[in-house]
Amino acid sequence: MLHRKSPLFNRLYEQINEMPVIDCHEHLTGAEARPPYKEPIAALFTSYVLHDLQSAAFGVSDRDVARLEDHEVSTDEKWPLLEKLWRATEHTAYARVTKLVLKNVYGEDTLTREALDRVAEKLADQTEEVYFRTIDEANIRAMLVDVLWWLPVDKFLSGEKTFSEKWRPLASLTSLHQTTFTHESLAWYGRLADMHITSLDECLEAMFVIIQRCVERGAVGLKDQSAYNRTLAYELPTTAEAERIFNSILADPRSFPGWPEGKPLNDYLFHQFMRFARELDLPVQLHTGHMAGVYNRVDKANAAHLASALELHREVRFDLFHGNWPYLGDLLFLGKNYPNVALDLCWLHIIEPDYAAELLERSVMVLPHAKVHGFGGDYGDMPEFVAGHLQIARENIAGVLARLVERGWLEEEEALQLAADWLFNNPNRFFRLGFEEVRVA
Ligand SMILES: [Zn+2]
Repeated sequence: MLHRKSPLFNRLYEQINEMPVIDCHEHLTGAEARPPYKEPIAALFTSYVLHDLQSAAFGVSDRDVARLEDHEVSTDEKWPLLEKLWRATEHTAYARVTKLVLKNVYGEDTLTREALDRVAEKLADQTEEVYFRTIDEANIRAMLVDVLWWLPVDKFLSGEKTFSEKWRPLASLTSLHQTTFTHESLAWYGRLADMHITSLDECLEAMFVIIQRCVERGAVGLKDQSAYNRTLAYELPTTAEAERIFNSILADPRSFPGWPEGKPLNDYLFHQFMRFARELDLPVQLHTGHMAGVYNRVDKANAAHLASALELHREVRFDLFHGNWPYLGDLLFLGKNYPNVALDLCWLHIIEPDYAAELLERSVMVLPHAKVHGFGGDYGDMPEFVAGHLQIARENIAGVLARLVERGWLEEEEALQLAADWLFNNPNRFFRLGFEEVRVA
């Protein structure tokens, strides 16, 4: 438990634990991209917790750290390095998810070499059936998934790849909105749209067709995570500036613009995508703040850079991710100031639980509570980690609401309704998922 147990906290937590959830952001494909679980360290140390191990691994080669998540490398071979790194980082929130998985899925209280042998015996139980059951048992009613950029989008468009009922995919701009365009990528967009691209206009036409086809196959919005590679400061270049760069690619298929030379074209495309979102009435999810991995720059990902784009595209509704960590104040301003902006706390409860709690608590007083989306797991095909993350999020939300009730800002019943709104009603309405609203009273 993250909070000292008070009777009030316990009452709130018990009810919040039973509430249905709309999981606002995942990268789950529906089990197909999950490697068979063969080795316990690989099953427990992948994704974000591995990035904390990397951060603790000064002087250790990247290759040795990466081997920890390899199911083909033996536990004995990995254990000395894992033990050393785990001792250095076991109290982070990412590590806490691993501890919860260790406890909830494998029944182990502490990570020891002997415990890993017992985990190994249970890995075969992690079947596809358990994968889906884990999501059901977490009471996740629907999941917004961003997988169409690495799960081949052509298979999705042809109907070869379908998702089970809880999955709500988004058309990913990541593959359409590259920092450096190549002739190959243009050929690929052309194939997806059944046309051959010979101009910037035709390229935009192809991209519109691709997005439209994603929507026909069930996509509920657009998702862009360009902040990993570029600044969120989108300027407004002229069509001529964008076209000049684009034409240089067409003129010599073996050349492509570098960065920052390609920025005007990249900026231009972003604004065009926002116009597509307006035309197709699609919400837009944007990565802001902290990035997975190590050795990136967070200042370029500050949502404050988006202000002019948010102000310009005011008929588009934006879902800003990750609490803009660590720029909390900037995000509260954007949420309060722009009617077209919602705050999405996906990933945030395990980036920093206290920051997520502070954001929720301050948001109640600063901006309309209907503009806050309380949870997204942001994991790949590891639903047991999503469930652990959700447990932390529910505890966090109960803690925030207990404090607001204690200080007299909310009545207990209002607090519970707020939890239902954050976890379910707000995203249900924002993404037009069509579920019946959850009323607490
Ligand atoms: Zn993500």
